[in-house]
Amino acid sequence: MLLEEYFIVDRGVEAALKRARKQGRRPACRRGCSSCCRTHRDIPVYPIELAGIIWYCAEKVEGGEREALKARLSSHAPQRPCPFLAGHACSIHRLRPASCRQFNVFDTPCAPEEDAFHTRRQDVMTPIGEYTERAFAATLPFYGLQDAQDKTKAARHIIHTQAVNLMEYGWKKLAEIMERLDTEKAQGRQKEAGEHPAGENPS
Ligand code: SF4
Ligand code: SF4
Repeated sequence: MLLEEYFIVDRGVEAALKRARKQGRRPACRRGCSSCCRTHRDIPVYPIELAGIIWYCAEKVEGGEREALKARLSSHAPQRPCPFLAGHACSIHRLRPASCRQFNVFDTPCAPEEDAFHTRRQDVMTPIGEYTERAFAATLPFYGLQDAQDKTKAARHIIHTQAVNLMEYGWKKLAEIMERLDTEKAQGRQKEAGEHPAGENPS
């Protein structure tokens, strides 16, 4: 469901950029350009997206990147840059939320301290509603909304109210979960090594 949501969102961004190009707008976003991940203060994340981020960090981020991520998550505070920003790159790029995917700016790259959403809204891409609707609909079963009756405005409103702000969320808890998993894995390896000392064939 989450991958389906992101697939539709990404197609929607492509369509919106194509439409804007035809109107003479030039996308300013580039790889390595990351002021928005430091300055944009309101980034809604829905429960299904949150679940995806937590799973990805807990299960897929490894090695030095994992240690650095745990440190950033532990020390994150609301006015700090996004904890997933590693240098100038997003460490959860594959599972970054729809809000990040849709935040695109035209013509002039954001200045270091600029939040273009507030300084020049006219240069921020407006997502195409049809794609946003389809992406949202793809996630409804996650919330137990299966039939047409459930897909009412009220039900959607309830989901919207469950969104958290990525920049203000209590990410320390995720760092603790990752640390606990790492400890359990290390203990498991130690136990296995104890049961089968080096050089002894366990088979
Ligand atoms: S939104 Fe602004 S800071 Fe972010 S990639 Fe685009 S131009 Fe760069
Ligand atoms: S999740 Fe990734 S793309 Fe979104 S603000 Fe954080 S670093 Fe930037």
